[in-house]
Amino acid sequence: MDFSFTPDQERFRETARAFAEKRLAPDYQRRERTDALERSLVREMGSLGLIAPVLPEALGGLGLDCITMGLVTEEIARGDFNVCYVQLLAALNGQILARHARPELAAEWVPRLCRGEVLLALALTEPETGSDAAHIKLKARRNGEDYLLNGEKTSISFAHQADAAITFARTGGEDEGAHGVSAFFVPLDSPGIHRTRFEDVGSAVVGRGSLFFDDVKVPGAYRLGEEGRGFTQVMQGFDFSRALIALQCLGAAAVSLEETWSYVTERKAFGAHLAKFEGVSFPLAEAETLLEAARLLCYKTLWLKDHGKPHTAEAAMCKWWVPKTAFEVIHSCLLLHGHGGFGKETPHQQRLRDVMGLEIGDGTAQIMKLIIARERVGRVAVPY
Ligand SMILES: Cc1cc2nc3c(=O)[nH]c(=O)nc-3n(C[C@H](O)[C@H](O)[C@H](O)COP(=O)(O)OP(=O)(O)OC[C@H]3O[C@@H](n4cnc5c(N)ncnc54)[C@H](O)[C@@H]3O)c2cc1C
Repeated sequence: MDFSFTPDQERFRETARAFAEKRLAPDYQRRERTDALERSLVREMGSLGLIAPVLPEALGGLGLDCITMGLVTEEIARGDFNVCYVQLLAALNGQILARHARPELAAEWVPRLCRGEVLLALALTEPETGSDAAHIKLKARRNGEDYLLNGEKTSISFAHQADAAITFARTGGEDEGAHGVSAFFVPLDSPGIHRTRFEDVGSAVVGRGSLFFDDVKVPGAYRLGEEGRGFTQVMQGFDFSRALIALQCLGAAAVSLEETWSYVTERKAFGAHLAKFEGVSFPLAEAETLLEAARLLCYKTLWLKDHGKPHTAEAAMCKWWVPKTAFEVIHSCLLLHGHGGFGKETPHQQRLRDVMGLEIGDGTAQIMKLIIARERVGRVAVPY
């Protein structure tokens, strides 16, 4: 067993860390108050190969492994949790396109994604259907060579600023469940699309919103994978994004923890540095332990993926446990800053709000636990 990263992985991590410290961290709090991500910043990450290095070289990526993608994710999130949605969604959507799109479509969009010229959203959730994703209703009806899409997607990250969305729609009957779902690539400037935006407690610069589809014409060549197989084929990519989400949350918690160690070694009470009191240092020591265990779980999951081994249960473990752990660690850090922690000038309150979103997004803890149970004992452990 070898727990070390390779020299190449370490080099890449250094590039990401330097960029995050210099270009992202100083504006994390200011960026929350802006309307959309600065596209020039996204392009800058693209020029450094920091958006989706895991994608194939032939499509503009660097062909690097999933562990490197994890390192980049963790480092970018240390600088700005919200900017890291760029990496998360590019890695997920880019892999879906690379695997399931027609070659011409992938060649048109994936290199632009890697260069930071476009943002892609993933549209699965609907007003009546979130966790029970196999029962989505948005309808895709054949119309000659094309499809016509009608319905609503909601709670979609980047909805107001994405250039296109991988959209799941029902091509079969409602009684067919997952077997009647197909995936489509939909440019969001297509006629018939209307977008709205929500007001959230966190990740405001990412933005969530609804996408309304009113007879939106999508070419048959933009279907991803086979008709009726969208759910099973395309959703496989979610195991990857679950480990990345965990590292995103972990990165944010790790910075709060480091900042809190600094604070408690400087501030004094009762004639001593706060760090002298076990009531202060022990919660931080526990947080160190939890984050170390979380990091091992995440990189093991990515290692399994890199080696072509099953990792669905491990990815679900990452997704339910690490965002929750990160939230709790950041909460402890906020409290250990005393009254200052409750103020908006310190970043812990923002990290807390931002991380909470990904306790829900991409699947809740309950759904992850259903997946783990299913992996262990089969379908007897799931609702249907
Ligand atoms: C920050 C954020 C970003 C998001 N980004 C996207 C995005 O980009 N694209 C997208 O498509 N969606 C996105 N979502 C939506 C997200 O994936 C859904 O909110 C999530 O899957 C839960 O669905 P729901 O909100 O409909 O909750 P519901 O499915 O209605 O569940 C409500 C509650 O009941 C619990 N529950 C449901 N079924 C069961 C069960 N069988 N057993 C036990 N408990 C159960 C859930 O865990 C939850 O606590 C995002 C959400 C957030 C908060």
